[in-house]
Amino acid sequence: MMNDNSDIDEYYDVVIVGAGPAGIGVGILLQKLGIEHVILEKTSIGESFKKWPVETRFISPSFTGNFFKMPDLNAITPGTSPAFSLLTEHPTGEDYVEYLEALAKYYDLPIKTEVCVNTVQKNADSFVLATSKGEYKSTYVIWAAGEYQYPNKDTFEGAHLCTHYSEVDSFAELEGDEHIVIGAYESGFDAMVSLIRARKIVTLLDDADYLNLVKSDSSYSLAPFTRDRIEYVADLYDYYTETKVTSVDFIDGSYIVKTANDHTFTSPQKPINCTGFASSLTLVKDSFEFKNDYPLLNDFDESTKTKNLFLVGPQVKHKNALFCFIYKYRQRFAIVAEKIAKRMKVPAKTIEKELKEYKDNNFYLTDLSCCDDECTC
Ligand SMILES: Cc1cc2nc3c(=O)[nH]c(=O)nc-3n(C[C@H](O)[C@H](O)[C@H](O)COP(=O)(O)OP(=O)(O)OC[C@H]3O[C@@H](n4cnc5c(N)ncnc54)[C@H](O)[C@@H]3O)c2cc1C
Repeated sequence: MMNDNSDIDEYYDVVIVGAGPAGIGVGILLQKLGIEHVILEKTSIGESFKKWPVETRFISPSFTGNFFKMPDLNAITPGTSPAFSLLTEHPTGEDYVEYLEALAKYYDLPIKTEVCVNTVQKNADSFVLATSKGEYKSTYVIWAAGEYQYPNKDTFEGAHLCTHYSEVDSFAELEGDEHIVIGAYESGFDAMVSLIRARKIVTLLDDADYLNLVKSDSSYSLAPFTRDRIEYVADLYDYYTETKVTSVDFIDGSYIVKTANDHTFTSPQKPINCTGFASSLTLVKDSFEFKNDYPLLNDFDESTKTKNLFLVGPQVKHKNALFCFIYKYRQRFAIVAEKIAKRMKVPAKTIEKELKEYKDNNFYLTDLSCCDDECTC
């Protein structure tokens, strides 16, 4: 790994922004294809996972299915398995950082840490990336800066008065014994379970009825791991469905939470906002076209607006197929890497050889119609 910044202003074929699972996953494939690149990381490898609350664990299970061509759901290469290296089914954020660091070291990835990309500009055929350490230039940019460090603090009036899920270090360590949790999808239920395990009293406000919504795609329905944990704490929390928060105020030492269905809740503690993330794409929003908050991408996950700017990670969406889990978006690393390799005229034999393992192990998804069906049972 590289950490000095002495070569700023050098020209790279590819700059990857972000050293999380998406950036590292696609970087490994570029390395295998012999494509010169650099990975610019704002802080350190797997930083978003370092920022997870200590209680949070992966909801998608890790299991060593690799030998039977069913790679561990949380693996970012076909040949590795967090279950094998971490010896746990539901890794913590810190566990997963260990996995990412091991891969970065093994593949000797060119990662520069402590380099924050502030803007990306396209000039004729090249990109100029303005960073905290000066300018970088490249022919291709792969955006992999994720969502977690870009919380959405705009979902209701006074949201800035709340503690966002991503700002919690530990639910057990939060001050006070009673908490209002706003938003009841994965992070809201996760917050609720962790608070109850810490013997706190929880009121959970759900703008829909996520507990009763069952879909066969994990992007649209609570995961089994979450449901198991909820069942364990059933009846220990107050749960309000169809209760959309409209505002939070702070008056005379109390937080006042108002909802669209005319409920008012009060608490001396800051409510916990679990309504989601704004995404790092806010930094490069002018380089993409958007529809319903998702960036428009062509068949190779390239911006429809800016040629040679690619997106990897959980913000990738094609029609109803939302690639928000690792086991989903890892299937697009090879699509992006292959497109760049072809444009750079990497020999076809090299591309075929390096992509074979990805294609053989469900790490290469081109037919997106697969993602529209419900399970039969
Ligand atoms: C509570 C919770 C539980 C989850 N559980 C699961 C799960 O069980 N399974 C699963 O598949 N997914 C899960 N996810 C989603 C998972 O976190 C994401 O899939 C994953 O983090 C996305 O990886 P990424 O590399 O795109 O983004 P990140 O992991 O956020 O990595 C982005 C990297 O880019 C860096 N960066 C950001 N901005 C810049 C910048 N401007 N310049 C340079 N670098 C920058 C960051 O520091 C970070 O290291 C969960 C998410 C949450 C919030």
